[in-house]
Amino acid sequence: MKQTVIDSKYWHGVVMILLILTLVSCFEDESLNEKEKEVDEPTSALDVYIDEHFTDEYNIAVRYKYVDNYVEPGQNVAPPKLEMVRPMLDFVDDYWIAPYLAVENGEDFFRRYVPAELIFLGGLIYNGDGTVTLGTADAGARITYTNVNGYDLSDPEWLKLQLQVTYHEFAHIIHQEFKLPSGFENISPEGYSSAGSWYNLTDEEALQRGFVSPYATSSVNEDFAEMVAFYVFDADFFANYIDQDTSCVTAQCELDNAGKKKILEKLTSIKDHYLKVTGIDLDELRAELQSRL
Ligand SMILES: [Zn+2]
Repeated sequence: MKQTVIDSKYWHGVVMILLILTLVSCFEDESLNEKEKEVDEPTSALDVYIDEHFTDEYNIAVRYKYVDNYVEPGQNVAPPKLEMVRPMLDFVDDYWIAPYLAVENGEDFFRRYVPAELIFLGGLIYNGDGTVTLGTADAGARITYTNVNGYDLSDPEWLKLQLQVTYHEFAHIIHQEFKLPSGFENISPEGYSSAGSWYNLTDEEALQRGFVSPYATSSVNEDFAEMVAFYVFDADFFANYIDQDTSCVTAQCELDNAGKKKILEKLTSIKDHYLKVTGIDLDELRAELQSRL
């Protein structure tokens, strides 16, 4: 239950950020020009490293200073401790870039579609309404990592948060560029929640509707992104969301099984779609990531 609450706050915050960034994205061209104008002379070994390994190599700008510029007014954030930046860069390298580069057709896809900016925040985002945003996944142009100061690969919650943000966000690129898999929205049409109400659902209620998380019920695009992220990062994905319980004695158990069937249907359609439009086999990507965790 505790986790549900954390997730709710997390995704609640995401929704608000999404709204803001939807507006921002209307001016994408202008901000891109601004970025080019920004003279970003490397001033330290760390900046030189970022320039060489991320900016020159993949066209990714990494923002870890002046982070107030990358959240909405009224949100309070702190930059990461300097000594946490390099480990976080290595996290990005090892758990996101490396798996993509290792799979067939992954490198071309990654280089072409990688978001232009990574934002590193030291802690969480404190919103004006008292909610806390643990991470944001906003439509394709940028990934904002929170709690970089909490960097700890041996902390499953920290790791889960960062992997979820990474793979969820990057999955949005697919439907933006190539649309959703055909018929995806018809697999569990009755399961989507009404506006602003997804955070009242429990994980099990979401599962029984055929969704991997309450947030996934918020829209068909979020459903898609959550499915991809959970499939790739969750080592227990099959046990949690796919495997049927063949010894059901309760109605709840039957409902869980029914929800899992819908999730399997979604997974199959997503895997087919990835293969068709990107040439990437999500099974391979999952295996590459899992082998590194
Ligand atoms: Zn999303």
